[in-house]
Amino acid sequence: MDCLFCSIIKGDIPSSKVYEDDYVYAFKDINPNAKVHVLVVPKTHIDSADCIEESNIEAVSKVMLAIPKVASVCGLSDGYRVITNVGENGGQTVKHIHFHILGGEKLPVKLA
Ligand code: AMP
Ligand code: ZN
Repeated sequence: MDCLFCSIIKGDIPSSKVYEDDYVYAFKDINPNAKVHVLVVPKTHIDSADCIEESNIEAVSKVMLAIPKVASVCGLSDGYRVITNVGENGGQTVKHIHFHILGGEKLPVKLA
């Protein structure tokens, strides 16, 4: 399978790592939308949040557990936003589930 984030996790494509454990990889977004913009992904491939199910919930949970650690590493003590885009209407461009962590400044647009 040809997946950009799987290639990044394998190290075949370079990235700016900010956090890694046995289950999770986090790296700087190449096109940041805030002063801090990091992507947090499971090391196992899951297409999107629409594919979360019992069989992959442990991998998803590990990502959830990593989010506050990534935020701490990035110095986001004043708060941050976590976003996951899903599918066409959600604006998802990379089909490997990922959670955007945005912060480092007061974020402008609030959709939810
Ligand atoms: P989404 O649009 O929610 O699927 O998010 C995909 C994100 O991946 C976008 O914010 C892109 O800027 C980011 N991205 C694409 N290619 C790379 C890359 N090689 N390294 C880091 N981030 C990337
Ligand atoms: Zn993948």
